[in-house]
Amino acid sequence: MLERALTYLKEKHTCPHCNQELTLCHAPPVHIGDGLGWGSEFLFICLNDNCSLYVNGWEFVENQYGHVGSYRHMEIPNSKESYNMMVAGAGAFTGSIVDVEALKKQNTRYQAEKKAIAALDGCVEAHDLESVMYLLTDNSANPDERKRAAEMLIPLNDLDCIEPLRNHNFGKNHLEQDINMAISHILAAHFLRECPYCAELVKVRAKVCKHCGKDLAELE
Ligand SMILES: [Zn+2]
Ligand SMILES: [Zn+2]
Repeated sequence: MLERALTYLKEKHTCPHCNQELTLCHAPPVHIGDGLGWGSEFLFICLNDNCSLYVNGWEFVENQYGHVGSYRHMEIPNSKESYNMMVAGAGAFTGSIVDVEALKKQNTRYQAEKKAIAALDGCVEAHDLESVMYLLTDNSANPDERKRAAEMLIPLNDLDCIEPLRNHNFGKNHLEQDINMAISHILAAHFLRECPYCAELVKVRAKVCKHCGKDLAELE
């Protein structure tokens, strides 16, 4: 849906009644009137309140149907189909306008995720911790790919993963258990542990934390 919306943003649709550029909107769930879908989740709509179709529509609808309403010019994306869509008021579609900035941001995130996923297969050979960390710390990334990323932690065996992962909020995701397990493995492989008082990494053999000075002997 995201990629389709971005393609549509490149289309230019102009209202034949007022010459103003049409606005990309999310389509209402059903075709108002006959209950059929539009066949598109997006519509280009003229939201110009000075558009002649819209201005003259009030009187027309009143005379024709005896209720309050008017028309907005509408076009189906990627087609030449256009309709006069009946609306009950000026705000009919203002809440459905596609948020272009949010869409672009969403796309940037999506592209970054795609890139990280593509890098996952060769990440151990390339020692690419960054791609793995991207997926693990992006809670909206694909859950299966995040699980796969978590499996790369032990073979990557990089202590640099610990601090960002410990500081990340995974929410209710069970991924955190896999990650905690991986961190334990990595620490053991380096003969290290986290000081329970200051969270710094210290040697397993240390009796006193070199960072905070607390006694670690009693923990044995
Ligand atoms: Zn217009
Ligand atoms: Zn300490």
